[in-house]
Amino acid sequence: VKVAVVGAGFAGLAVCLRLLDLGIEVDLYDQKGVGAGASGVASGLLHPYIGESGKRSQRASEALEEARRLLVIAGEHGQEEVANFQGIVRQTPKELVPLFLEHAKLYGDVERVGEELFLITSGVSVYASLYVQGLYRACLVKGLRFHIQHVPLMQNLPDADVTVFTIGAGILLFPICQEWRLHAVKGQAVICSWPEELPVLSKSLVGKGHITPMKGGKKVCLGSTYERGILDARSCLEAALPDLTAKARVLMPGWTNITVEECFAGVRVSCARQYVPLIQKVGDKVFAITALGSRGLLYHGIIAKDFVDQLRG
Ligand SMILES: Cc1cc2nc3c(=O)[nH]c(=O)nc-3n(C[C@H](O)[C@H](O)[C@H](O)COP(=O)(O)OP(=O)(O)OC[C@H]3O[C@@H](n4cnc5c(N)ncnc54)[C@H](O)[C@@H]3O)c2cc1C
Repeated sequence: VKVAVVGAGFAGLAVCLRLLDLGIEVDLYDQKGVGAGASGVASGLLHPYIGESGKRSQRASEALEEARRLLVIAGEHGQEEVANFQGIVRQTPKELVPLFLEHAKLYGDVERVGEELFLITSGVSVYASLYVQGLYRACLVKGLRFHIQHVPLMQNLPDADVTVFTIGAGILLFPICQEWRLHAVKGQAVICSWPEELPVLSKSLVGKGHITPMKGGKKVCLGSTYERGILDARSCLEAALPDLTAKARVLMPGWTNITVEECFAGVRVSCARQYVPLIQKVGDKVFAITALGSRGLLYHGIIAKDFVDQLRG
């Protein structure tokens, strides 16, 4: 069997690795390059308590385990560390504190570290672009063939037995996806220098937004916006800054002089029905994996596993 994977983001690379591990021949296509979509700009937060509700995500334990397995593989094939495994601190509104205390008892991966602060010990801050490069290298070692090429939507590639589209926001150009209740949510984040007078951040801090330390500790990533219905992936600092500075004020009230060095953007694809991504059959031997939403890091590994299990029947 020969499989063509279209789209070299978290989903496509996870599918490639799983297929290659089974000895299946894989060709990976991307119109721009590895990590050229949302995966290359993701802020890197990987933990099971995503979203304002603070509820544990569906299938979180198996998803985390698989994501961590992939991180280790990418780390072994990368040139630098691809993630910080020290946990993530969650700022929790008072009304959610009882729920978090409950999580601590049930799952053992939550510790209270302040009045409204909880350390999610299973949380990981992933250096997204290094991660995709590490995963890509791991695939190359196992025989992946990579092509920079635009692939017309939802056609089986001529010499492939199966084609799977993992094309992120590209899927929204495909009319049938309206039936799947997909929508675009543009995300923007900024890289800022971290003031010396503030304590050094060793872990990501998440709440309504997030502040994530970059490698070296002198810069942070402040994110992200949720701009619904916008498909334009170009960054626009003027549109992003008011929302991001408001988020920073709540997360870190002492951070007053926010100095932005760079702004970047991408488009997430979410499904109105569910948070776990979708696998859709869109033709004879043609599939799409979509709707990783803002949980791509959590779910890319298990959705790749589900897909490959489905293929093998
Ligand atoms: C600012 C921002 C911050 C985020 N932060 C986080 C976070 O902290 N944690 C988290 O889990 N998630 C985060 N996300 C979400 C995460 O980035 C996505 O869930 C994930 O990247 C989606 O991966 P994907 O593989 O489906 O798509 P993508 O990464 O978008 O990959 C799709 C690829 O397909 C290619 N492509 C498209 N059309 C074609 C075509 N016709 N032919 C060939 N190639 C094509 C594109 O070039 C692209 O490389 C964030 C997103 C944004 C925008």
